[in-house]
Amino acid sequence: MVLLIVAPAVKPCEPPAGVARLYSALNRHGIACTVLDACIEGILQLARNPVRGSDRWTTRARRNLDRNLDSLRSRAGYRNFDAYKRAVADINRLLAMSVADPSIHLSLANYQADGLSPVKSADLVRAFEQPEGNPFFPVFSARLTDIIEKERPFLAGFSLNYLSQALCTFAMAGFISRRFPGIKIVLGGGLVTSWMRSPSWRSPFGGLIDLLVDGPGEYALLSLAGIEASNPDPPLPDYTPFPMKDYLAPGPVVPYSASTGCYWNRCSFCPERAEGNPYVPVPTPKALEDLHTLAVRTRPALVHLLDNAVSPALLNAICTHPFGTPWYGFARITRQFTDPDFCASLKRSGCVMLKLGIESGDQEVIDRENKGIDLDIASAALKTLKRFGIATYVYLLFGTPSEDLESARKTLRFTTSHSQWIDYLNLAIFNLPLNSPDAIGLETSLLYEGDLSLYTGFRHPKGWDRAHVRHFLDREFRRHPAVAPILRRDPPFFTSNHAPFFAMNSPS
Ligand code: SF4
Repeated sequence: MVLLIVAPAVKPCEPPAGVARLYSALNRHGIACTVLDACIEGILQLARNPVRGSDRWTTRARRNLDRNLDSLRSRAGYRNFDAYKRAVADINRLLAMSVADPSIHLSLANYQADGLSPVKSADLVRAFEQPEGNPFFPVFSARLTDIIEKERPFLAGFSLNYLSQALCTFAMAGFISRRFPGIKIVLGGGLVTSWMRSPSWRSPFGGLIDLLVDGPGEYALLSLAGIEASNPDPPLPDYTPFPMKDYLAPGPVVPYSASTGCYWNRCSFCPERAEGNPYVPVPTPKALEDLHTLAVRTRPALVHLLDNAVSPALLNAICTHPFGTPWYGFARITRQFTDPDFCASLKRSGCVMLKLGIESGDQEVIDRENKGIDLDIASAALKTLKRFGIATYVYLLFGTPSEDLESARKTLRFTTSHSQWIDYLNLAIFNLPLNSPDAIGLETSLLYEGDLSLYTGFRHPKGWDRAHVRHFLDREFRRHPAVAPILRRDPPFFTSNHAPFFAMNSPS
């Protein structure tokens, strides 16, 4: 028996696709498997037990908890944005108040502990050695003991995808290792893969973790179970072991990856490219079949396509053979999106929102960073998508080596002149990936003090450093009267995960 574990803290609105795929692969080969989503379980339990706060806000939040949870699990909860924000803020308040130690900061989207950094291996080792210090300890120690004593797994596999999960993952692994020393501990997932793809990687976790897995984990787990797998197709994710009704969404949200890597793979700021991740698509007919099967089996309220960029071939296939469920995902801006017929069929296929990386409003920056988009096409695409009722979540990136204040102001002008066609905005400050080919020629230094950091600081060639970028964003960009309302409608904590539900409720 294999136990697959998702540790806190990730946004508790959908199950993780990676674990669903592992579960499916193990089942297909006759390996019994149990899944523990310790994130959603932990968050719901901690929210019920605030140990601090007798103020009016916490008292109200406690009184309204069930009503607020119900509202985030119903379509009606996404009709009134102010009521939604109040519900989210109240649940988040209870989580913050559930932690006795004021040096620990827990929210609906993050977990941080002062003095413990998820990018320092020594701190992760400390979390492993002192699991009692983790606020989720009472919840996960009881659940793990119960499951392990009943099911007797020989292996516990953790899916570690985000920095916000790292400290809790190591705390849970440390608990298992101490209490049930015979169980093999395996760590995989996106973050572990990124660590291991660094050319200077040498595991600092020898003696603690039995196996770290680079890339998809199914073959590693099957081989530990004594099975040499031969089926090259990625398994269809199976969401049956997840507590689908518990997630904070108005119905099941089903994530699906039709590819890993990116078919464009040329943007110079991209961590995928810096890590050298190859583009591996699921063949389009198989991806389409998977989506149809998932739609029938899980009756989702929403499908979340996880691809870094959904390929034009898959978009076309979904348009001609829709799977009958609302969906959203990331796409690269191409001429396709300026075609009214295409956008109309995209809308009919169930597309409610597209996440689009425009990154800059300065064509020269876009070209120098190899983004490969044309701002005139982006402009026409935003207008056409809006015309057909498809919401847009636009991603902008500031502080790349080719940007300066003047180009950032061009981005501001592009945004303001398109504000009526942009539904949501994500503003990010550039991080230089370690080992990026673009680091050559830049004066680099350590940005984060951590041996597991994936990024490095650098001296900006035009003096447009992070402090200047932050100042510009805070004083000019965010305050602009055409930008501020877009930023204000971003769903707090859940951002693009909940935005499609508002898009589905808005008249098109
Ligand atoms: S489109 Fe996105 S994922 Fe693809 S290379 Fe560019 S930044 Fe990376």
